Amino acid sequence: MVFYGAMTNVPLLDLKAQFAQIRAEVMPVIDQVCASQHFILGEHVRALEEEVARYCAASAGIGVSSGTDALLLALMALNIGAGDEVITSPFTFFATAGTIARTGARPVFCDIDPLTFNLSPAAVQAFIDDHCVAQGEQLINRGTGGRIKALMPVHLYGQSADMDPLMAIARRHRLKVIEDAAQAIGTEYKNGVHAGTIGDVGCFSFFPTKNLGAFGDAGLCTTNDMELAEAMRVLRVHGGKPKYFHAVIGGNFRIDELQAAVLRVKLKYLDRWTEGRQRNAAYYDTAFAGAGLGAKLRTPLAVAGYRHVFNQYVVRAQGRNALRARLMERGIGSEVYYPVPLHLQGCFAYLNYRAGDFPQSERAAEETLALPIYPELEQAQLAHVVATIAEFYG
Ligand SMILES: *Cc1c(COP(=O)(O)O)cnc(C)c1O
Repeated sequence: MVFYGAMTNVPLLDLKAQFAQIRAEVMPVIDQVCASQHFILGEHVRALEEEVARYCAASAGIGVSSGTDALLLALMALNIGAGDEVITSPFTFFATAGTIARTGARPVFCDIDPLTFNLSPAAVQAFIDDHCVAQGEQLINRGTGGRIKALMPVHLYGQSADMDPLMAIARRHRLKVIEDAAQAIGTEYKNGVHAGTIGDVGCFSFFPTKNLGAFGDAGLCTTNDMELAEAMRVLRVHGGKPKYFHAVIGGNFRIDELQAAVLRVKLKYLDRWTEGRQRNAAYYDTAFAGAGLGAKLRTPLAVAGYRHVFNQYVVRAQGRNALRARLMERGIGSEVYYPVPLHLQGCFAYLNYRAGDFPQSERAAEETLALPIYPELEQAQLAHVVATIAEFYG
C-alpha cells in the first residue's frame, strides 16, 4: 500500500507545472519592469485593468493589492460603515465578512443553498420578511436597529450565485450589491453574463491559488458605474485627489506593477486552463458515478446554463475526516473549505449567533472536501484519486 501511494502523488495544487508553461514568456516581462524601475501604477496596471474589464465585459477595472482589499475598497466606496449592515453567506472565506466588520458595519448572515453552497435568495428573503422593516427609503433590522445597506453574495468555488432573485431583492429594498468573485474569474451566470458584473462592484482575487494567480497578492474590482470606479481609484491612493489633498480617507490598496505584468501574461492562458479544470471535473463526475458510491459521495452540482470554472471541486463525503486521512496516506492532497462557518468564529461572538442558526452551512462545513482539480493533472492521477475513494467506501 505504501508502494501504491508513492507511485502516484497527487498534490491538491501544483503551481510549478503551470509556471513551467509560461516561464519563457513571463521572465522577460519581469525583467522589463525591473529595467524600467517603474513599480507603481504604470503601463501594465492600466493595461491589465482594461484587459480584465474587457474579459468580463465590465466598463471598468481597478487593480488592487488583494481580493480582501477589493472587498474593503468596494465597501468604502459605497460609504458602508458604522450603523450599516451587510447580508452575506456564513460559508465562505473569512475575508467576506472580515471586511464588512472592518468598515464598522455588521455582517448579517443568511444560510446557503445546499446544492450550490451559495447564498440562498430564499433565506435572504425570509430574513428580510421576518426580521426587517422598511422605514422610508431604509430597510431596518428590527433586532439591532441597523440599516441593511448591501448584499454580498459569494460565487463559491467558481460557480455563480443565483443573482436574478438577489438583484430583485436588492432593487426592491435599494440595497447595493457587492459580488465576492474572488474564486470566480471567468465564471458566468445565465446567458454568458460574467460573475462580478451584475451587482454594483465585483471583487476578484489573484491570490496564487485562484484560477488567475499572481506571484504574490493582488486583486481587482470591476464595475459598470463610472462614478464608483472613480471613487475606488481615489480611495486606492489614500483618497488623495489631487495628490496630497484628501477630501476622503482611503488607504494604500494598489496592485504592484510587477504583479500586473505577470497577470497579463497569464490572462491569455486563463480560458485554456479553465477548460482543463472543467475536463477534470467531467472526468471525476463520470468516474464517481461509475463507481456507484450513491449517497456516500455527492459530486458538485454544476447548474445548467452557467459556466462553472472549478476553482475548487468540492464533494460531500460520508466520513469526511477519515476519507481525508486515507487520501493523505495515499499521497493525495485535499482540503476542507471551510471547517468553521463564519457565524461560529470566535471573533464574531459579538454578533450573537449560535450553532444551529444556519444548518446548511454547518452541515457543509462538516461534510465537504475539495479534491485536486488543477488543469495540469494527468489522467493517471485522476484515476488514482477515484480508485482510492472507491476503495475507501468499498
Ligand atoms: C481568496 C478569497 C478572498 C480574499 O482574497 P485574497 O486575495 O486572498 O485577499 C475573499 N473571498 C473569497 C471567497 C476568497 O476565496
